[in-house]
Amino acid sequence: MTSLNNDVVEGLRTALRGPLLRPGDPDYDGARQIWNAMIDRHPALIHRCAGTADVCTAVAFARDHGVPLAVRGGGHNIAGNAVCDDGFVIDLSAMRRVHVDPDARLAWVDGGALLGDVDHETQAYGLAVPLGINSTTGVAGLTLGGGFGWLSRMLGLAVDNLVGADIVTADARRRHIGPRAEPDLFWAIRGGGGNFGVVTRFEFALHAVGPAVTAGLIVFSAAEGRDVLRRYRDYVDTLPYDVSIWAVLRKAPPLPFLPADVHGHDIVALAVFSPRPPDEALPAIAPVRAFGTVLGEHVGAVPYAAWQQTFDPLLAPGARNYWKSHNFATLSDDAIDVVLRYAGSVPSPQCEIFLGLIGGRANEPAVDATAYPHRNVTYAMNVHGRWSDAADDARCVAWAREFFAAVAPYAAGSVYVNFLTQDEETRIHEAYGPNWDRLVQVKQRYDPDNLFRFNHNIPPAG
Ligand SMILES: Cc1cc2nc3c(=O)[nH]c(=O)nc-3n(C[C@H](O)[C@H](O)[C@H](O)COP(=O)(O)OP(=O)(O)OC[C@H]3O[C@@H](n4cnc5c(N)ncnc54)[C@H](O)[C@@H]3O)c2cc1C
Repeated sequence: MTSLNNDVVEGLRTALRGPLLRPGDPDYDGARQIWNAMIDRHPALIHRCAGTADVCTAVAFARDHGVPLAVRGGGHNIAGNAVCDDGFVIDLSAMRRVHVDPDARLAWVDGGALLGDVDHETQAYGLAVPLGINSTTGVAGLTLGGGFGWLSRMLGLAVDNLVGADIVTADARRRHIGPRAEPDLFWAIRGGGGNFGVVTRFEFALHAVGPAVTAGLIVFSAAEGRDVLRRYRDYVDTLPYDVSIWAVLRKAPPLPFLPADVHGHDIVALAVFSPRPPDEALPAIAPVRAFGTVLGEHVGAVPYAAWQQTFDPLLAPGARNYWKSHNFATLSDDAIDVVLRYAGSVPSPQCEIFLGLIGGRANEPAVDATAYPHRNVTYAMNVHGRWSDAADDARCVAWAREFFAAVAPYAAGSVYVNFLTQDEETRIHEAYGPNWDRLVQVKQRYDPDNLFRFNHNIPPAG
């Protein structure tokens, strides 16, 4: 980048409608920051695209000048692929429009939209797309990797509800793709991440959800964790698709429904969710209370869009984060013991271990129906190492890595691509699984020079 002369960069600026930021510009530092404060990169150029024309111009510029190119959606990715040092960042954060057609039950979502943008517009009609569990996450990165959340057991993954997309490929052409338009490319973006181009617009199928759903937390002491988690595991095998229960092991936050003497102590929190109203959902949730001694609970009717924001404060941007993740087909007794052992030795009060329950309809498609391959997974387990002070980096990273290694013998041997950290290049095959070869072929066809390589990269076949 340093070899690009000023005239070339100024020429680019005049061709763009959105701002082009360089080091020293007032907005530059804010624009290079992403969710994970462990990532501190200094791009040479950041372009906040105003629309698809800007994206095409920026992609052509990067290609023609051989400039390293990163693409930013919501900026949530733990590995920090949204930004690069000394390269060019195509930043879609100004492209967040969501358009809903309630009669056709379709939503068109711009490539920089956040989950909260989609929930806000779709819930106005009592409709929803199955996305993730934090309203501040980017729709783009989440969907391109698979995308699961509270609705996935009933409605499948985000990729299972994607019916079309507009994408700018490495030749700087905008293409509309779908099941009948460039189907290989459409297949590849449903799990193959940002490897194939810049998605400027997603087209999702919508489903009736809410506005009120049934959701909340039931909290147990970690001292009873072994029984609670074994009963949880046995119970979720019998759960209907329209109920989801995730387990979170952490220090108790000062939640108002928990007694003060529980705050700061080790808990197992079961987060329960159903899109049904309480009279229909509570019978399936009630047995959870018998898993152990309930320290506190807060479960009832809640607006879906509000529930989607419930965990935002615990996962706000600005902290240092290091994750390790495994998929599990089942949770053995031994695995539960390892989970409890490490949950009892978290190196910072912000760390947590969570078990996201998937299964249900998310496991019905064939492994090769979309590029996302993990259709046999019951739990995605994520070790959230999270802390504030850089002086704690080594200690916190070591805890996450040790736990990851200790529990590995009980895991499925696969991982969700969106939970990979920047130092896990060796796990990329685990993430794309049996769909690897076809992804490589599609990459060769649409991005033979690997222009889009700041991602969990699929190198072109050539
Ligand atoms: C707090 C938190 C909660 C999360 N919860 C969930 C969850 O419930 N379910 C779940 O499935 N995942 C979850 N994730 C993981 C999430 O799916 C990934 O972090 C995802 O990559 C975020 O997408 P983004 O657009 O915000 O990220 P970014 O960092 O902006 O981008 C991620 C990757 O996608 C590429 N990319 C971004 N936008 C585009 C685009 N428009 N076109 C092409 N490529 C693009 C980037 O180049 C990068 O490689 C969570 C992450 C966090 C931090």
